[in-house]
Amino acid sequence: MTAKLMDGKKVAAAIREDVGKRVEKLAARGVTPGLAVILVGEDPASQTYVKSKQRTCEKLGMRSDLLEFPDTLSETDLLAAIDKLNRDPGIHGILVQLPLPAHIDETHVILAIDPTKDVDGFHPISAGRLLIGEDGFVPCTPNGIMRLLDYYEIDPAGKHAVIIGRSTIVGKPAGLLLLQRNATVTFCHSKTENLEQYTQSADIVIAAVGRPGMLKAHHIKAGAVVIDVGINRGTDGKLTGDAAFDELQDKASFITPVPGGVGPMTIAMLMDNTVRSAEWAAEGQTAG
Ligand code: NDP
Repeated sequence: MTAKLMDGKKVAAAIREDVGKRVEKLAARGVTPGLAVILVGEDPASQTYVKSKQRTCEKLGMRSDLLEFPDTLSETDLLAAIDKLNRDPGIHGILVQLPLPAHIDETHVILAIDPTKDVDGFHPISAGRLLIGEDGFVPCTPNGIMRLLDYYEIDPAGKHAVIIGRSTIVGKPAGLLLLQRNATVTFCHSKTENLEQYTQSADIVIAAVGRPGMLKAHHIKAGAVVIDVGINRGTDGKLTGDAAFDELQDKASFITPVPGGVGPMTIAMLMDNTVRSAEWAAEGQTAG
C-alpha cells in the first residue's frame, strides 16, 4: 500500500479562498478584519512565522499590525500593549508569538488578551468553551488537522484516535475535537509505557512531539491515517516531522508530509479565526 498524501498546501489554499470571499463581504459592510501580532525578541523561527502570517493577511485584504519589541521589554509594558489592542475596535485578533523571553510569564500574557480577540485559542475561556463543546476560538493547528481530515473524507466517528503529545496548543485540543466528532481518543506522552501498545490499534495517529522520525512503521497498523504535526529542523536546515515518512508511507492509508502538511493549515486557520472574529463583531455577537 502506498499512502495518499494529505496535501496541506492545497487544502490551506481552499480555506484562504473562502476566507478571501468573507473578507470581501465584510468590506462591503465597511469592515476590514484586523490581526495584531506581537513579537518580542529576535528568535529567527518566530520572525519567519510572523512574516508569513503578515503576508497572508495582506494577500487576503486584511489589516495586519506587527508590534515588535526588544527582548528586554518588561511584562508590564507588554500587558499595556495588549490592553491597547484590546480596546482598538479595528483589531479583531491578537496574537502574541511564543515563546516569550523567560522573564515574562506566558500565563499572564494569555490571560490579558480579550477572549473575544483570542484568535490563537489559548485563553482559558476559549479552552473551556472547547471542553464543553461551545462555539469559540479553537487553536489553529488542531483545527487545521480536523479540516484536513474532512477534506479527505476521513470521518473520525467510531475510530480509535491516538494522540502522541498532550500540549495545550496541539495534543489536548486535537483530542477534544476528535472526541466531539465521536472518535475514541487515547492520549500518549513522555510517561506512556509501551507506546506501540496504543498506536498499533489506532485508526488515526497524530504525532505532536517534536522528536524527528520517532513514529516508525512498527508503531502503526496497516491502513492507519498518520498526521504528523512535528516540525524539527536538522543541522542541514531541513525540516522533518515526527514520523519516519519513508517507512510509514508504505503502511499508512493517508499521511501528511513535512513540510506541506499540517504547517500550512495552521496559518490558514488563523486567518479563518480572525475573519470569524470580525464577522462576530459585525453581527454584534462575540465568542467571549
Ligand atoms: P510540546 O513540547 O509542548 O509537547 C510535546 C509533547 O510530546 C508533550 O506532551 C510530551 O510529553 C510528549 N513527548 C515528548 N517525548 C515523548 C516521547 N518520547 N514519547 C511520547 N510523547 C513524548 O510541543 P508542542 O505540542 O508545542 O509541539 C509538538 C511538535 O509540533 C513540535 O515539533 C512543534 O514544533 C510542532 N508544531 C507544529 C505546528 C504546525 O503548525 N505544524 C504548530 C505547533 C507545534 P509530556 O507532556 O509528558 O512532557
